[in-house]
Amino acid sequence: MPRWVFSFGAGGADGGTHLKHLLGGKGANLAEMALLGLPVPPGFTITTEVCRHFYANGKTYPDGLRDEVEQALVQLSQRTGRSFGDAQHPLLVAVRSGALASMPGMMDTVLNLGLNDVTVEALAREAGDERFALDSYRRFIQMYGDVVLGVGVHLFEDVLDDVKDREGYFADTELSAAEWRDIIDEFKRLVEQETGAPFPQDPVEQLWGAICAVFGSWMNSRAVTFRKLHGIPSTAGTAVNIQAMVFGNMDERSATGVAFTRNPSTGEKTLYGEFLVNAQGEDVVAGLRTPQDITEASRVSTRSERPSLELLMPETYREFIGYCDQLERHFRDIQDIEFTIERGKLWMLQTRSGKRTTEAAMRIAVEMANEGLISRDEAIERIDPSSLDQLLHPTIDADVERDVLVTGLPASPGAAIGEIVFTSEEAERARQRGIKSILVRIETSPEDIHGMHAAEGILTARGGMTSHAAVVARGMGKPCVVGVGALKVDGAVGSLTVHGRTLHRGDVITIDGGTGQVMVGRVPMRQPALSGTFATLMEWADAARRMKVRTNVETPSDARVAREFGAEGIGLCRTEHMFFDHQRITAVREMILAETPERRRDACAKILPMQRQDFAELFEIMHGLPVCIRLLDPPLHEFLPRGEQEIGEVARVLGLTPEALRRRVENLEEFNPMLGHRGCRLAVSFPEIAEMQARAIFEAAVIAARSTGVPVMPEIMVPLVAARAELDYVKAIIARVATAVAKESGEHIGYQVGTMIELPRAALKAADIAESAEFFSFGTNDLTQTTFGISRDDAASFLPTYLQKGILSRDPFVSIDPDGVGELIKIAIERGRRTRPDIKLGICGEHGGDPDSIAFCEGAGLTYVSCSPFRVPIARLAAARAAIAERREFGV
Ligand code: ADP
Ligand code: MG
Ligand code: MG
Repeated sequence: MPRWVFSFGAGGADGGTHLKHLLGGKGANLAEMALLGLPVPPGFTITTEVCRHFYANGKTYPDGLRDEVEQALVQLSQRTGRSFGDAQHPLLVAVRSGALASMPGMMDTVLNLGLNDVTVEALAREAGDERFALDSYRRFIQMYGDVVLGVGVHLFEDVLDDVKDREGYFADTELSAAEWRDIIDEFKRLVEQETGAPFPQDPVEQLWGAICAVFGSWMNSRAVTFRKLHGIPSTAGTAVNIQAMVFGNMDERSATGVAFTRNPSTGEKTLYGEFLVNAQGEDVVAGLRTPQDITEASRVSTRSERPSLELLMPETYREFIGYCDQLERHFRDIQDIEFTIERGKLWMLQTRSGKRTTEAAMRIAVEMANEGLISRDEAIERIDPSSLDQLLHPTIDADVERDVLVTGLPASPGAAIGEIVFTSEEAERARQRGIKSILVRIETSPEDIHGMHAAEGILTARGGMTSHAAVVARGMGKPCVVGVGALKVDGAVGSLTVHGRTLHRGDVITIDGGTGQVMVGRVPMRQPALSGTFATLMEWADAARRMKVRTNVETPSDARVAREFGAEGIGLCRTEHMFFDHQRITAVREMILAETPERRRDACAKILPMQRQDFAELFEIMHGLPVCIRLLDPPLHEFLPRGEQEIGEVARVLGLTPEALRRRVENLEEFNPMLGHRGCRLAVSFPEIAEMQARAIFEAAVIAARSTGVPVMPEIMVPLVAARAELDYVKAIIARVATAVAKESGEHIGYQVGTMIELPRAALKAADIAESAEFFSFGTNDLTQTTFGISRDDAASFLPTYLQKGILSRDPFVSIDPDGVGELIKIAIERGRRTRPDIKLGICGEHGGDPDSIAFCEGAGLTYVSCSPFRVPIARLAAARAAIAERREFGV
């Protein structure tokens, strides 16, 4: 018999973190905190399994659930000394959602459940405060009406606003008890009118209504969107936590707050949090009031004038930071904690691993490893390699002039430039048109998640560092500035005003989420330097990984960047990229269009010195590290002259009429260039080109070896080989040139010739090809195209549909298809090694920078991966994680 309900509280619990899959993150950690002896209001959790049952069985509950809930309620009554509907000591509960993966604010929560016409009087007596009780009751009717009964919030707000207008009140606090009573009557009438039934007075009925609504909220559109963005399976389901209420809004000795055990933005080891006096629940995260700091230190640094918790309630503060410390050590990670203080008594309401920026994640991981809390391997595994992209984000140049409009709280670092938009829909539309936008809001709500995703950055007038906007932005790695109090936003008119200056929808602003500055116009950015903890983590990753990481570059400046990012050589230098240069293209065209080998040789002679210069520079920058150069690969027509002017110019150089040239160009057109006259096929038909390129490489090697004093050993890569004979033909040309250059220069030149494996036939014939090839480099872009028979350039019209319909689970051009393409790679490795056990194996497709593909390469036993310069740090980390995972699997 499965068990559906687990209780917690009063120093014990049925569950704990080991049951996270059943209790959800919130329920499991509430139980864990209770086990640790922390003050947690008692309660119980209905498991995620019930949610799965609910959806699998037409929204019905499993047998036995009602009995288990009833028993749990009895136990809760014993623990609290209160019971549902009791006219003296009523039990009031919060009904809280909580899935395995944290989805803050995406699902529903109902507070103050159990209030009715009788218990509200009891609450008033117990609290000694009639207005507080009435306020709680009307909040409950409103929340329950909205979440459970589907009565629009604005209808309730209209009622309240009418009374305030009529009486000329500004704040809710001005209402008298009698007026609250009238409002409650009005609310109840409203519910009856909208639903056709009176507001439920029976707490048990209320409870089942709320349970059903929380399960229902698993499928609401914002939860669905959130799961899609974060890759959370929709089958997981949520748990429901029913927990005794505590009141942060009882009086001035009561409060509610949120804290992180370390700074979630920078990672600094200082408690970081905010609270509101006399407030309940969502008030802090909703950003309706700008909250106060918990510690004095942060109050000083935010220049807040309102007192910190440390100053206001020193004893509670000390108790609280003690728990924070304990929780961090217990969970061995930064914690995001919710708490409430009721009349001076501290209650812990939630703890979970805190969302953090990549910068913070890195610092926290490194410092926790240094503190001995986690191992270095764990530190490496805590950083998602793809998230490093965030750190390589541009930031505002410190020395640059800027027109600062206003400064807010720096909620999520990085800088962003965009046009002002005021709604999520506008942000989406802008993105569809390719326009970068900054989403400007008074505050954001969970409904804004798609707009935040579409925008480059987020700016809000209200809210603190733990507001919804801040938390979500950090999770997404989006620059974000919040709490700009002076900002007046008028979305309807489409303008914002701050300190007397007005900007309109579509005006460009720059925000800096690292400093909180909001600037008018476009402010220049610069690439970030890699900081101290980043370097440390990379060192640890380098020590942990087995595979080498090379880079795909052609230009000296990219090669330098790649070296700074830690590249250990060049895995792919595409020589054709060097051909497009303005000053070279005419000679290149001459070479291609020449009608006799002699004329082609003449044209090649013009290009030779330029290629030699390029290669020499790359060899010098790489200073003895391996450099793999690929011979000319793309279909020739890519270089051909187009339009009257270009054709005229080239015809003149070649001594042809434009007419004759045009015919020649037409002859070179192909129906399917990707499968046409390209790769080693070019070298076979035009050996003069391969000859020239080989000469440029060897002469450059001689120059670089002399200038650096370090031997250069070029790797020459022959593309698109299907059969060994093709490779042998090109290899013979290379060997001839090598001998000639050695004789001319008097220098010994070491080199290797290898091939790309990018055709299925090459993978299958790898044993044969390895007789001649000294290395293989998997060209996984072409290998994916030719294995699937899908042209990457034409895939856009159908591949998204394949992904959407689940026919392919991932885009094989983004992440290696391990089953098909992967199998060919494994076959090639196995057969290649049979011939040449020490054959060097690399990958140079774009997959070389994709963490999942890198994990595949580790498993397949490649020697190195190669990727674009900005992905080198990502690949270093991904290779380390793959090696650690591999070692763990084989128990090494
Ligand atoms: P979320 O998953 O959106 O954070 P929660 O279940 O944590 O939702 O509830 C939202 C808010 O309600 C919390 O911030 C907390 O302040 C308040 N709350 C939850 N449980 C209780 C409780 N037992 N007593 C008082 N307030 C509560
Ligand atoms: Mg919430
Ligand atoms: Mg919460």
